[in-house]
Amino acid sequence: MNTQQYQSKVFELAVQEFSKLPGIGGKTALRLVLHLLREETPEVLKLGHAILELKEKIHYCKSCNNITENETCSICADPGRDQSTICIVENIRDVMAIERTQQFHGVYHVLGGIISPMDGIGPSDLKTGSLEKKLGDGKINELIFALSTTMEGDTTNFYLYRKFNKYGVRMTTLARGVSIGDELEYTDEITLAKSLLNRTVFEASS
Ligand SMILES: [Zn+2]
Repeated sequence: MNTQQYQSKVFELAVQEFSKLPGIGGKTALRLVLHLLREETPEVLKLGHAILELKEKIHYCKSCNNITENETCSICADPGRDQSTICIVENIRDVMAIERTQQFHGVYHVLGGIISPMDGIGPSDLKTGSLEKKLGDGKINELIFALSTTMEGDTTNFYLYRKFNKYGVRMTTLARGVSIGDELEYTDEITLAKSLLNRTVFEASS
């Protein structure tokens, strides 16, 4: 990618910036920049404005690290949510996924990552400060570990369990097992084994 190829430094810079975005290669970046060039100016300004606002107005909730335009996010600020039940997740996308189920009425704590030596993420990179404070204040009844069912997720679960065990609160993890709609014969053995271990009492009504 050189200036001669594009004949314009400004154009080249735009392509370069777009290609830094996740999942966007050089070709897609070029297509997007050409698209924006063809667009009407107000439309392009709207996009630019939205990007600037994103950085200027969105903060991390001081209580749970979720995104918010205020000091605390709408979930933490909701008096209808159970503040003593905290669901620990890796990132904001996980908050959105659980919220979509409409089955959880507690609050969250976003770690901002999970322990992954391969990616250079260690225990000290996890954002646990505000959570520890709540635990220290004795305000928590249950911590739900809702992390990925990967080795990194398991390592993080174990680390958090050891770190928070002294507070004597109930600590749970999501049930792991056969997904709804899965054919048993195609389920891998680890999932199947976990499903057997986590079996529940059969209820005819469910
Ligand atoms: Zn919050």
